[in-house]
Order: sequence, then structure tokens, then C-alpha cells
Amino acid sequence: MRRRRVDCLKNMENRVEKVVIIGSGPAGLTAAIYGCRADLDPLVFMGTKYGGQLMLTSEVENFPGFPDAVLGPDLISRMKSQAERLGARFVQEDVVRVNFRAYPFEVYTNSGVSRALAVILATGANPRRLNLQSEMELMGKGVSNCAVCDAFFFKGKKVAVVGGGDTAMEEATFLSKFAASVQVVHRRNELRASAALQKEAFSNPKISFLWNSAVVEVLGEGKVQGVKLKNLKTGSESDLQVDGLFVAIGYDPNTELFRGQVELDTKGYVRVRNGTESSVPGVFVAGEVHDFRYRQAITAAADGCKALLDAEKFVKAKLEVKVAN
Ligand code: NAP
Repeated sequence: MRRRRVDCLKNMENRVEKVVIIGSGPAGLTAAIYGCRADLDPLVFMGTKYGGQLMLTSEVENFPGFPDAVLGPDLISRMKSQAERLGARFVQEDVVRVNFRAYPFEVYTNSGVSRALAVILATGANPRRLNLQSEMELMGKGVSNCAVCDAFFFKGKKVAVVGGGDTAMEEATFLSKFAASVQVVHRRNELRASAALQKEAFSNPKISFLWNSAVVEVLGEGKVQGVKLKNLKTGSESDLQVDGLFVAIGYDPNTELFRGQVELDTKGYVRVRNGTESSVPGVFVAGEVHDFRYRQAITAAADGCKALLDAEKFVKAKLEVKVAN
């Protein structure tokens, strides 16, 4: 029995995959769907916590094809089922190491190594959290990281936005189109955001600013009813009644695994050139692991499609060379 398992693992290790996809959010799953259609028999490393940010989202109103909205986890589950039906193979394990200096590329999990002619990086990014227990309890119940996704639910309501960067200003401005008022809470007394975004927010009559302040607790049972604020200069605390809290304090791309293997920018995002190419030919990139600008499920999905089409060309050329030899 043990011998059979060892043989099986050896077979896996000897096999060379046409394409390995790392990540199972909309980018990775769309790449998997297109990978099956391109006859590349994709192998997807989903991660132990699979699905990405949509797994923490409630209703998704802006993904085309769902006139009655769809829950984030349902959307992921549908994409995965679609890829599975077409033949994609999924491994619910974390990739622990990659070696893109070797070719075929090597992708390691704790159970072994897979070798691949092309790899698609689709590990996404994580929104930074305030790290409050109440924030996590009310996530999707009034706490959000995405105004474009959730602003609609706050029509005529009061909301707060935490952060002082470009994302926070964009979120505040977007929210002001729906909400009755938007209170920006920032820990310092000046913004980090670009001059243009600051100007836009300062001139918006619906947006006001609370400086030198931090949210120390999200208040409410089952839904957000307010936030507890702390003035960081005086230490005094006060409650602010709001119906929603948008945490916009930046993102951390999931790229530690790729450091030293592909080129990253100063903020740790994978640098992309010529469509979806990374600095290593044959390693392609999709979704928020490189895209800090659009950050939408639909743009990540589109990126997954593009990365796979680029990978398909690459793999085809490699296989043609092999046949010619
Ligand atoms: P960011 O520039 O890192 O700004 C994060 C903001 O959150 C900062 O104001 C920071 O305060 C605050 N913050 C961080 N940790 C906090 C905590 N624990 N509690 C409270 N506040 C905290 O992140 P970002 O705004 O997401 O932007 C990321 C990158 O994407 C930037 O390069 C940005 O220019 C770019 N971006 C561009 C656009 C655009 O061009 N339209 C749109 C969005 C993002 P401090 O200021 O005190 O550090």
C-alpha cells in the first residue's frame, strides 16, 4: 500500500504539467476554465484558504450575468464547478516554494513537487485589516473593503471610511454618490493620497474628515450601528453613529512566495509587462497579485483569461519545439 502511494507520488513528480495555476480567486478559476478549453489540462493549487476575497463578501451585485445578485462564496463555487466540469484538477494545498530558475518550472507543496511548462500567478492580495474582533464579526454585515461592490447598500445612510491614501479617497468619493454622509477617519492630520484625489474629496460637501483618530471598535449586533473612535492626540473616546464602515488602509499582495523569483515593484506587487508576462518567460500574472488599480472580481477574471491565452501560446511554442526535435 505504502509502496503504491510512493509510486503514485513519483509519477506525479515525473509528470510535466502544461500549465500550473497558483490561486483560486476569480483570476485563477477563470484561467482554469480557459485552460481546459485550450486542452492544457490545468492543475490548480487552490491554497488551504481558497477562493480569495470573494469568500468574505456577501452579495455581489456587479458581476455580469447575475441579475438577482450572487453571494461571493457562491460565485466562487460556481466558477470552480464550471472549471471542474471542464476537467480542471484542483489541489487544496498551499504552495510553499517555487523555483522558476529551473525549467520545467517547479512548484512545491508540503506533499511534493509539480513541474510545469508554464505557471500562472493568481494569488491575489489581502486588504489590510484594523485587526479588531468586532471588525471581523461584522465583515459583510456593514464592514466592507470595497465601495464599488457595496456602496449601493448604503443609499441614504451614514458611512465611515478609515484611511488617508488614494484608495480611501476613491472609496469616500464613490460612496458619496449613494450615502447621505461620508466620514473619513484618518490616524494623522494630513492625507497620503495624491493631490488630485485629495482635492476632489475636500470639495465634496458630503465628505468630512476626522483627523488624528482611530476606530477602536465597530459597534452593533448583527449589523454595524456605529464605531468607537479614539482621538490619538488626547486619548479621548467617542461613539459615531454610522451604518457602514469601509476599511481602506491598503492591501498586501500575496507575493512573498515569489520574492527573488520574479520581479516585484517597490510595494511588493508582481511587475507585469506586455500583457500578462512576468520577468520570467513562461510565468504569467493575473489579478490583484499585480493589479492594485482596478481590484474587481470581473477585472481579475478577465486577467485570468488573458494570462491563460498568453500561457497557451507559450506552451504551444514549447511543444512544437519538442516535436521538431
Ligand atoms: P496606502 O497608500 O498604503 O495608504 C494606506 C492608508 O491607510 C494611509 O493613509 C495609512 O496611514 C492608513 N493606514 C495604514 N494602516 C493603518 C491602520 N492600521 N490603521 C489606520 N490607518 C492605517 O494604500 P492605498 O491607498 O490602498 O494605495 C496603495 C497603492 O495603490 C498606492 O501606491 C496608491 O497610490 C495606489 N492607488 C492608486 C489609485 C489611483 O491612482 N487612482 C487608486 C488606489 C490606489 P498613514 O498615511 O498614516 O500611513
